[in-house]
Parts: sequence; structure tokens; C-alpha cells
Amino acid sequence: MRLGIIADDNTGASDAAGMLSEQGVRTLLCTSIPSLPDDVLSSYSALVIGTRTRSIDPQEAHARTREAAVFLNRHAFSKVQIKYCSTFDSTREGNIGQMIDAALDACGAESTIVCPALPVNGRTTRDGMHYVNGVLLSQSPMKDHPINPMTDANLLRWLGYQTARKIGLLPLKQIRRGISAAGEYLQQLAAEGIACIVTDAETDHDIDVIAGATASWKVITGGSGITSAIAKRMNASIHPDEWNIRLRHMPASMLVVSGSCSPASLRQIAYAEQSGFHIYPANPMDILREDWDPAYHGNRISRHMAQGSKVILCTTSDASGVAAVHREADALGISTLEAGEAITRSLALCASVVCSTIPPGRLVLSGGETSGAVCAAAELHAFETGPPLSPGVPICFPLNNSNQLVVMKSGNFGSDDLYERIAAIH
Ligand code: ADP
Repeated sequence: MRLGIIADDNTGASDAAGMLSEQGVRTLLCTSIPSLPDDVLSSYSALVIGTRTRSIDPQEAHARTREAAVFLNRHAFSKVQIKYCSTFDSTREGNIGQMIDAALDACGAESTIVCPALPVNGRTTRDGMHYVNGVLLSQSPMKDHPINPMTDANLLRWLGYQTARKIGLLPLKQIRRGISAAGEYLQQLAAEGIACIVTDAETDHDIDVIAGATASWKVITGGSGITSAIAKRMNASIHPDEWNIRLRHMPASMLVVSGSCSPASLRQIAYAEQSGFHIYPANPMDILREDWDPAYHGNRISRHMAQGSKVILCTTSDASGVAAVHREADALGISTLEAGEAITRSLALCASVVCSTIPPGRLVLSGGETSGAVCAAAELHAFETGPPLSPGVPICFPLNNSNQLVVMKSGNFGSDDLYERIAAIH
């Protein structure tokens, strides 16, 4: 089996790719549909494509997903996963439903599962209600997300806003009856015309059962939990020594770009500051007033790095800071989405100036939108995935630069000491 994954952002793509490489599956991670020779593509058992469809126009999300699914079919990836965040990041308008619609249409499949659970990171589903560390999604920090505040934990209802297809539930009780019973239940729902079957799951074992019960399904959808469960059923062909040799000679220079405002990102920056990182804050309001020149700040950061500093370029702020930015942006006639895009764009331009002046040996990108924008601006398009630093946070090796490691992480992911640990890799 060869697995092709279409992820709605780069960190989600990286998260899924990390789950595969953790199981020894040779994995290629691309930030757009790749234009690589066939012999390169065919040397990988899994291809993960980041499409940056999470916060774009729903029709465009549908079109991009369809194009990626057609590409995967053409290159003999026999199973396709639509990958979204384990906190189901989306708005009422989309785009998870649109991505599912596109994949089902492009692959000629009638039904799929919807499995966002990732128990290792505390994301679980029971009776179709989604939880983060035991708290309803709608009461978790995700309720304050700057772009897609998650205000409803009922996955069936939320997905129902995004697709016209019929939605049903695979309850925990059916999953706990084992692979064949769960498989039969799923087939029954599919035969009733249910196209999107939300799956409960509270443990890794539940997800293993779901992966087993859908082993022959062409399209599946979910978070990296289901990716991990599928990876366990694939051929492992990587030996960790391959990675150790590559990591041994990585230059020490390091740049972190953090546009995420998640609590984990705040803690990671605070920890790194304590361990001697140079914090380089960018004021979001200066950016929105077009009073922050990315080239000027990129050159300043390059100078800090030339003097040996490990630098964190960030706009990261707590929920009240984000709310204040949104209020001030509103007064300037700038919508929340436009504000997010402008901030992300400036961070990416600034980072690309640094990368073209002193390419950092270690480039760490915190935040899905942030990572996507920086990769595009710095022309980082294809990576071989290496070992995971934490669940969902793998080390990536750019195909076009053997002297660099890149870590792209969803804002919420990674331990507090993550940046210090990356600096210590040798
Ligand atoms: P995460 O993975 O945590 O969701 P993202 O990078 O995907 O992180 O999204 C964070 C969004 O918040 C981006 O659009 C970014 O531009 C925006 N943002 C960053 N800093 C601020 C801030 N201080 N105030 C408001 N929005 C911000």
C-alpha cells in the first residue's frame, strides 16, 4: 500500500509525515503539488502534500484538494487521506467538508470516515463530541483561536455546515467490538448512504481498530492519529542510523519564527528566553499600519545570527493581546482574516530575507499559517521526513539543502523546551 495525504496546512502535513517516519515509512513531505521526477516520487511509500486550504475560499479549497487527489491517483498512491487538525480547525463555512467532498469525487468513493482524535495529544471523541484534554473543544483554548475559533464541539453538526453529504457516527461501543464488527457497522452505514462517518475514539487502540476496519477504503479522513494507525500497517524501510548521520553535521545557527498565539507557543518562547535565545518581537499593530519593514528587520536578525545568537522572531501574544489587535484592526477597517494574513506575510518576508542572507542550520516554524507562508517565501517545497522530536513534530530535511533541518509545528504542539532541544541536536 502507498499512502497519499492531502493536508490542509503545512504543520498538519508535517505532523502526519512524522507519524509515518516514526514507523519507519519512507515519507516525502511537499508544501504544494510536487514537480519532481517520477523516479524520486516512486522511491517513497508515502507522500504528504500541504495544500494550505484551511483558511482560504471554500471553492478554492475544493479545487486545490481535487487537484492533489488526482495527482495522487495518477502516481499510484492507492489510499488517500484528507488530513486536518486534531482540533478540527475550520469555520462554519469550511473547509474540511469541501476537502472531503473533493477527495470522494476525485477518487470515485462513496463514503469515508472522519476521525480527528489524537489521544496522545489529549484530543478524543465520544458520542460525536470532541474533547481537548478532557474539556469540550468549545471550552478549550481553541475557542479563542485568532482565525478559526472552535465554538461547537459537536463534530456532526459542525461538519454539517460544510458539506451537503449525509453524516453519521461510528460510536465507541461498536469500535470496542473489534475490527470486523466495526467494519460491518461502517459498511451498513455506507449502504444507507452515509458518506461521512464521524468516528469516536478515546485511545490509540480505538484508532487502530478504525484503521483495520477501513483497511480497504480508498479515502479516509482525520488527524495524524489515524495516519499513525495506518502507518503501523505499512512496510517500514528506514533505519534510524540514516538520520543520525545527517544530523551529526548540522550547522548550529538557528531561527525560530513564531506566529502562533497558542498557550504552548507562549510557554516555548518563555522557556527559550530563559535559556539564552534572543527574542525579536514584531509588533502586530506596526505591521497592520505598514510601519514594519520586513527587509530591514530581516537584516537586523541576520546580524544577530552572524554574532552567534539563536533568534526567535515572533508576534506571539496571549488571548487578550490577540483580542486587542483584532479590536484595533477593526477600527482600521481590517478584518480578522486580513490581519492574520498581513502578520503572517510580514513574518514570512522577514524570514526569507534571513534565509537568503544566512541560511539557518536549524529553521523552526511555529504555527500552521506561519509555516506555510515562510516555506513559500523561502522556497522550501520538498522535504524528506526524519525522526520525531515530540508526537507530531518531526525533523524534516529539505531536498534542496543538506545543511539544514526544518521543524514545522502546529502552534499547540511540542514540549516547553522544544527550541532548546533542537538547538542541542548534534
Ligand atoms: P496556530 O498553529 O497556532 O493556529 P497559525 O500560524 O496557523 O498558528 O495561526 C496564527 C494566526 O494568528 C496567524 O494568522 C497569525 O498571523 C495571527 N497572529 C499572529 N500573532 C498575532 C497577534 N499578536 N494578534 C493577532 N493575530 C496574530
